[in-house]
Parts: sequence; structure tokens; C-alpha cells
Amino acid sequence: MISYQVIEHGKPLQRIVLQKPKPKGAEVLVRITRSGVCHSDLHIWDGYFDWGGGRRFYVKERGCVPPFTLGHEPFGVVEALGPRVPRGKGAVKVGQKRIVYPWIGCGSCAVCRAGQDNYCISGSRYLGVNVPGAYSTHVLVPDAKYLVDAGGIDESFAATLACSALTAYSAASKLPALGPKDRVAVIGCGGVGLSGVAVLRAKGVKNIVACDIDPAKLATAAKLGAAATLDTRTPQAAEELRGIAGALDFVGSPATAALGIGALRKGGRHVVVGLYGGELVHPLPPIAQRAIGIVGSYVGNLQELKEVVALARKKKLAPQPIETRGAQGANGALEDLKAGRVVGRIVLDFEELAA
Ligand SMILES: [Zn+2]
Ligand SMILES: [Zn+2]
Repeated sequence: MISYQVIEHGKPLQRIVLQKPKPKGAEVLVRITRSGVCHSDLHIWDGYFDWGGGRRFYVKERGCVPPFTLGHEPFGVVEALGPRVPRGKGAVKVGQKRIVYPWIGCGSCAVCRAGQDNYCISGSRYLGVNVPGAYSTHVLVPDAKYLVDAGGIDESFAATLACSALTAYSAASKLPALGPKDRVAVIGCGGVGLSGVAVLRAKGVKNIVACDIDPAKLATAAKLGAAATLDTRTPQAAEELRGIAGALDFVGSPATAALGIGALRKGGRHVVVGLYGGELVHPLPPIAQRAIGIVGSYVGNLQELKEVVALARKKKLAPQPIETRGAQGANGALEDLKAGRVVGRIVLDFEELAA
């Protein structure tokens, strides 16, 4: 199999030919056809997250040590089943096309058994984060239960549901109960943020204020159904947002946190999703006095992925702009994303490489 690997953090990925793994036990080998390129891949590529105040969290501390294969938006074809994968009616079969749920936990701790693999505390196996990911012709999945049928959806769009749409969907579920006049800010209209607009629309939220510094991204957010757009560089941005019921912060910087939290109405919620970096300093009394919530949201669980896939299959979830490129373009895709040149999502096509 061919994988595009981080050999040295921050340096171009290298095309590496590896032995194709044979699925053992309950494992399933999936031949990847599409693999989405996510902004958080950039942090893993760089090798650290910025914690602010000059502090960094290095990804090697959670087991991500080069050589490492990125990619947590996998879509592909079931190629081989381990001996303990259930056979028969309703079971997964070789040749089926599936989204791979990438946020896989240890499978045995209480959190995983409760269906919250994405909060696993005792050994996560997140594809492309802790274990080899989908910038590859093949990926090994620990259990068939992590494969989700996306029949009828375009393959590149299907790939993006595994992180982009799922992350937005789970974040949106953390907003307070919304009345018909309540406004929600989507801060940062990159790939996940645009999914946020589409997810909110699919959930019936109408008063969405899309916030970004890039007019092209704002125009795309408006096309996806945002009722208003706001260039956050304008001096009146904070004033225009004042009174929002919630904010989905897909950037996660000190500036976006200040903007969202400062604009909340009483009882509002600011949901931190983006991993841009920095630290939050905020006076404590108003958090109580205004009864606001500041909550984090990290990807989503398997059930939420099934729900978001169902929305997409019913055509209720509008796809963001997606550009499908050959897998050889992996480095260019990361560079373009880093430079802010991508509106929507780039998805890599691994089909030709596997042929
Ligand atoms: Zn992602
Ligand atoms: Zn676990």
C-alpha cells in the first residue's frame, strides 16, 4: 500500500510504500478512495498545538511520532475481513463502500462502552491522530461497527462527514435551546465552519451570522444559508453580534473567544471547537452573573455520525464546496490550507494509487 507520511514535522509528506496489513481478529481492511484534508491535520503536521503564553503541546506526547500517516476523513471500500468479523445477513461485506468513523477509543473503558469513543480516557485509537490514518491507499479499522453506510452520497462529500460535518453537528448540539428569533454566530468559515452553517440550517436554525475575515468564505456561508455575514475585522463587529444566543467558534483563538463570549446574551453559550491556539483570560463574576456557558466540543460520537449521515442522505445537509484532487497533491493541499487559500474542503482521491 502507499501512504503519504509525515517523516519530519513541518516538512513535505513523503510517499512511502508499505506492506499491506492483513486484518486480524475483528479488524477490517478498507481500501481508501477518498480522504478529506482537515485544518487540524496542519497542527499534527507541524507537531504541536499552541497553548498560548509561549507554551506548546507536542503531538508526540500522545503517541503521534513520525513516520506517521495523517488523515481522519476516510471513505473507501471494504477489502478484507478479519477472522472474527461477523458474517451473514446484515453484516459488513467485502466490496461495500463505507465511511470510516475515525474517532475510535479503546473499546473497553466505561466511556467507550457508553458510545462515547471520542471521549475515551484509556487509549484512543483516532485514525490519523494516534494511529495510521487515511492519507493512504489502505487503512485498518479495529471493528466493523465503525463503518457507516453513506449510500447515495457523493464519495468526496461522504468523506468530509467523518470530521467536518460530524464536528459541526456535535458542537451545534451544545448550544442552548433556541427560540425562533435567537441568533447564532458561526465564527470561522473554513471547512468545518461552513459545515456548521449547513448543519444549523439542517436543524432548522435560521438566524445564523457567519463571521470570518475572508469575503469569499463569507459569500459561501451566505450561499449555504447564513442569514447575515460579518467581517470580524470591522470595528463594529462586536456591537453587531451583541445579544447572540450562542457561538460556534471554529477558530479557537483569543480574539474569536473574546468576540463570541463578549456578545452572548444572558444564558448564552460559546462553544470552542477550533484548535487555532492561545489562552483564555476572562473575568469570573460575569460568567455567573450572565449565566453564560463556555464549553468545548471535540469531534463527535458514532451515533452522531450516523445522524449526520442520515441528514445528508435525505438531502437535508447542503454540501460545502469540495475540490477533489489526486493523492499526489497532498502536500499542495496542506500548503493551500495553511495559506488560507481553500474555500470549503479539499478531498484527496486515492483510487488511482490503489489500482
Ligand atoms: Zn478534522
Ligand atoms: Zn475507551
